Amino acid sequence: MYNATLFTKRSTYTISDVQRERKKLATKIVALANQKGGVGKTTSSLNLAAALALAGKKVLLVDSDPQGNASSGVGVMTAQIEKNIYTCYVEKDDAQDCIVSGKLKNFFLLPASVDLVGAEIELVEKEQRERQLKKVLRPLHGEFDYIFIDCPPSLGILTLNSLCAADSVLIPLQCEYFALEGLAQLIQTIRRVKKNFNRELYIEGLLLTMYDRRNRLTYSVAKEIQKHFKDQVYNTVIPRNVRLSESPSHGQTIFEYDAASSGADAYKRLAKEFLKKNESLKQGENK
Ligand code: ATP
Ligand code: MG
Repeated sequence: MYNATLFTKRSTYTISDVQRERKKLATKIVALANQKGGVGKTTSSLNLAAALALAGKKVLLVDSDPQGNASSGVGVMTAQIEKNIYTCYVEKDDAQDCIVSGKLKNFFLLPASVDLVGAEIELVEKEQRERQLKKVLRPLHGEFDYIFIDCPPSLGILTLNSLCAADSVLIPLQCEYFALEGLAQLIQTIRRVKKNFNRELYIEGLLLTMYDRRNRLTYSVAKEIQKHFKDQVYNTVIPRNVRLSESPSHGQTIFEYDAASSGADAYKRLAKEFLKKNESLKQGENK
């Protein structure tokens, strides 16, 4: 006769082991980067993160930009926050102690600080200066389903740290004439990071933002990018939508500010496309 107690114990042990492995795998870190300013990095990182939180995923948004737009965009005033990503870098604060919860369920933020401006100089003096964010985020593995890092508009040390900490890079491109300007340099930086620090890094996808279907130029730019980069471009295109530009001044994601807007609809569709790709990857179907 088989021993039921032993069986239960064994299976509990086995399952918890597997679960632990799954938990580790479950956290995927995505950096939103483009050294070109104003292309929709912040708008996309916070609204994609919010859409995933609404879909039931536990999500952390890391504000790695001294401008602090991702923090203020969800209603967190960086000037009033003592513990933040900068204190993680410099005072060795634990990331867990610095995370604040957003108004949306499942949505968390690791806020920025204007002091991050100085991090460029302070990190330069550190050993392994490119790996500091990776170290900061390491204890959070298994705590979240997805971590998004909002990068500043430069290829400096903060973006470099984000690329070293990330599994993949999502590149927002504004549908305008100079959209591809600087993209070659960004891709070269990604290659350099891959070669020297983070071999597994890959491009999650290119995201077309601020698309205006009444404007023939944005239409032809979008077509050109899709022709050139093919399936690396998300099918979901983010339209120019005034509600998206208004929501940060209310400290709200688009889903709190105007859930019926075309902007909210686009980020919901983007989340669906993102999840379709990533959840199948996690299950090893596409790899
Ligand atoms: P930076 O390089 O300064 O960090 P960014 O790449 O993070 O900028 P955002 O701050 O997201 O870009 O967007 C730039 C401006 O465009 C902001 O005022 C934002 O509200 C607005 N914006 C972004 N996406 C849209 C959109 N789809 N429709 C209308 N306005 C938008
Ligand atoms: Mg930004």
